[in-house]
Amino acid sequence: MYNKIGDRMIKVIKNGLVITMNLNRKEKIEKLDIVIEDDKIIKIIDNYKGKADEFIDATNKIVMPGLINCHTHLGMSIFRCTNDSLSLMDWLNKKIWPIENKLTDEDIYYTTLLSCIEMIKTGTTTCADHYFGSLTLDAIKNSKIRCLFTRVLMDNDNKGKERLSEFIKLYKENKDSSPLITFSVSPHSLYTCSKKYLEEIKKLSDEYKLPIHIHFSESLDEINDVNSIYKKKSTEVLNDLGFLNNKLILAHGVFIDDDELKLLRNRNISIVHNPVSNLNLGCGFAPISKYIKNNINVCIGTDGQGSGNSLNMFEHIKYVDMLQKALYKNPTVMNSYDVLTMATINGAKALGLEKEIGSLEENKKADIIILDLNNIEIFPTVDIISEIVHGLSVNNIDTTIINGEILMKNRKLLLDVDEKELKEKINKILNRLNM
Ligand SMILES: [Zn+2]
Repeated sequence: MYNKIGDRMIKVIKNGLVITMNLNRKEKIEKLDIVIEDDKIIKIIDNYKGKADEFIDATNKIVMPGLINCHTHLGMSIFRCTNDSLSLMDWLNKKIWPIENKLTDEDIYYTTLLSCIEMIKTGTTTCADHYFGSLTLDAIKNSKIRCLFTRVLMDNDNKGKERLSEFIKLYKENKDSSPLITFSVSPHSLYTCSKKYLEEIKKLSDEYKLPIHIHFSESLDEINDVNSIYKKKSTEVLNDLGFLNNKLILAHGVFIDDDELKLLRNRNISIVHNPVSNLNLGCGFAPISKYIKNNINVCIGTDGQGSGNSLNMFEHIKYVDMLQKALYKNPTVMNSYDVLTMATINGAKALGLEKEIGSLEENKKADIIILDLNNIEIFPTVDIISEIVHGLSVNNIDTTIINGEILMKNRKLLLDVDEKELKEKINKILNRLNM
């Protein structure tokens, strides 16, 4: 038990090597102490000598902002690695949608909780989710992870209206319910929503001042579908709908040509690069270094475990710079620090949370991870940033703190969740669905 200092809880991370990801200073990895008061970082200083309720020893460890996963489907943990040798459309039509129709809200509660624990154990502190289920938000809140939440919208069947009212109710009832939860309005895609439906979604985004989070330009099949419906390029469709004037989170953006880039640049638009999912589904991958040159904010997502295999961002970010280097046959086109920028502060910008999270700075929220680089497989660590991006394994992720609360310490989950019981619940769901 710790004694609170007055009404405030002070925690100090001592002696860690700190990577701030504060782009306003030249990054220098230094040994510093981080003082956390309740949910906030109040000081980053050399050798803090004051009192604290709890000291966290980070000697020989890295302290950095938690990673931000800008595109997840948290309820899809039971579909992990189910897309072997299937195209996106075949996978959705044959493997995903028929089973999703049989999932109960209780099922999705547990599949979501499983995903949240996976994120905490792999150093992700915030995600932007894109799913459904009336108990999904409860699972996210119980896991204490930060989330840009939504209820996905589509009207390619007769349930479009129902989904829209569900979202509005969910938003109105929960918009101020937790400091960890914010909302986006999220059409599934241009090919699963009618023009009229997308116009209603645009109105909601304007009225509630919410970002729009949508799957966009993911596969060539999608490009052809959108083209045959609208007789226009996908970005032109977004432009006609007025979406480009709103805060926009475009998941994938694999196929965006130079004319489309002209429409997208210098706006409040982010592209979420999901390299593993795109590679698995044989979609290709986005030429993101070109997007960055065009002043578009690029961040990183895992997509659901079905196509992305895992929510461990460290398993995904190692592809980011290597793909660009191979694509442009130029090793200088991107570096490891650029990758960490995308996985942290750029993610915060995409979610509209850059004043609160994404870097370690005084007065920002304490969303922090501690990495232990002592394991033999990454010893010796000569270039720390490159090692974090390319060499880190799950065993190196030591501690996860969200909003000032320690949710994992020395790899031990501190949440009030029985992992064994949770696995049993998940196995029952798999049995019932004959998966
Ligand atoms: Zn997705």
